[in-house]
Amino acid sequence: MSAAAARPYQSFYFDCDSTLTRIEGIDELCALLDAPEREQVHALTEQAMNGEIALEQVYGQRLELIVPTAEQVEEIGRLYVEQMVPFTDEVVADLQSLGKTVGIVSGGLRPAVLELARKLGIPTEHVYAVGIDFGGDGRFRDFERDSPLCRNRGKVDVLRALPSGARPLVFVGDGVTDLETSGIADLFVGFGGVVAREPVRAGAHHFIDGPDLRPLLDIALTMEERNRLSDAG
Ligand SMILES: [Mg+2]
Repeated sequence: MSAAAARPYQSFYFDCDSTLTRIEGIDELCALLDAPEREQVHALTEQAMNGEIALEQVYGQRLELIVPTAEQVEEIGRLYVEQMVPFTDEVVADLQSLGKTVGIVSGGLRPAVLELARKLGIPTEHVYAVGIDFGGDGRFRDFERDSPLCRNRGKVDVLRALPSGARPLVFVGDGVTDLETSGIADLFVGFGGVVAREPVRAGAHHFIDGPDLRPLLDIALTMEERNRLSDAG
């Protein structure tokens, strides 16, 4: 297992939807729509997944169909917390107790992702997600169009821009945009506890079948680090 030679890892970055939490924020927002708009959003998502249209194009079009309110995005944050993958808070606390940097890199909407980060004790400066603007009436105005996280390979760009002190680093996620980081992360761990995607399983350095993220500690920590955790626990 050559990837393991890079241990000890300094940083652990996680995808959000279907990795730290069991839901997909966009699906929850979509569920609030009437059937015709819901169909349009599903069609766009499908086209993006098949590579027929670029993610950045879909991202804007979906939000323009959904027109989420500030309150609805807050509700997604609450659902993220309520549907958190079991033991995620413990895994994050264990990593932080060993001095690791823990962060989130997500194509989700920033206010919602920050809600989950707060619950997990992950500082705001380690959270990368897509900003959104609301007017005074709480209605959707615009989103952070220049965020790398609304385009393909955006997660790769975010990891590449991290300071060198973040290395060696681990990335954990369920999706194909997460798998894109396997070329730049020192260790890419696929997570199948919510949705197991075969291309991710095939491409990952390691794959966790689930149901939770605890096996990550065995995969990515050194023996000495694991001993320190059991001594402390
Ligand atoms: Mg995901």
